[in-house]
Amino acid sequence: VSFLKELNREFPDMKTALTTNGSLLGEYAEGLAEANLHSLNISLDTLDPVKFAEVTRLGDMDRVIFGIRAAVGAGLRNIKLNTVLIRGFNDGEIGTLMDFAKKERVLLRLIEFMPLEDDVWSEDAFISGEEILRMLPDGDSWKAEKHDSELSGPAKYYTNEKTGDSIGIITAVSNHFCKHCNRLRVSATGKLRTCLFAPDETPMRHLILDADREGLRKLILGSIKNKPRCWNDVRTGHQQMSGIGG
Ligand code: SF4
Repeated sequence: VSFLKELNREFPDMKTALTTNGSLLGEYAEGLAEANLHSLNISLDTLDPVKFAEVTRLGDMDRVIFGIRAAVGAGLRNIKLNTVLIRGFNDGEIGTLMDFAKKERVLLRLIEFMPLEDDVWSEDAFISGEEILRMLPDGDSWKAEKHDSELSGPAKYYTNEKTGDSIGIITAVSNHFCKHCNRLRVSATGKLRTCLFAPDETPMRHLILDADREGLRKLILGSIKNKPRCWNDVRTGHQQMSGIGG
């Protein structure tokens, strides 16, 4: 939170977004609102406490729900719930998740299951964005929003003509957006990663510690040139999302 506040003071026009599992939001929501966070993505794959414990290993669903409420209560803007839809795991929960998101006044986004880890991903478990759309309650009432806003990111948004509800679908696999991707990730240990699927990371901590701006600039520009055109070009099948940070 202190880093975000500093960032916002230094670069007031920069938009900051945070992706989190929500476990500590109850504690930090007020501070994040004070830091003028622009948008908040909370990962929530299930509302079944048993499945939640299974998929997060140590997670506490009540704590996450408390955190979501704290974030809304603190006035944080653009709060989205991110749900990776997996056949046989949470595909029966779409209606429940939609009701929950509506009640908590946050936006739900359903995401295709990405083949990062061969040990957990399978074709059978994969549900395409087209199928997700067909699975939504109220079938034909969902219409694609004509002009996605600058906040859309990789999601395509749909509005329910009957209820006015909105939902986002992220087709990270079936209709990937790699050629438009401008994401670079820096890990907590100061390593630069150009793609979720790429196994390589470039250490930049030494340049950060030396405040070597020119060195950093060169390293970042060099890395951008090596961004893949498609995730499938660099996929190893051994990337763990939990180790990358989503
Ligand atoms: S280039 Fe990599 S990080 Fe960017 S959208 Fe494609 S898979 Fe995701």
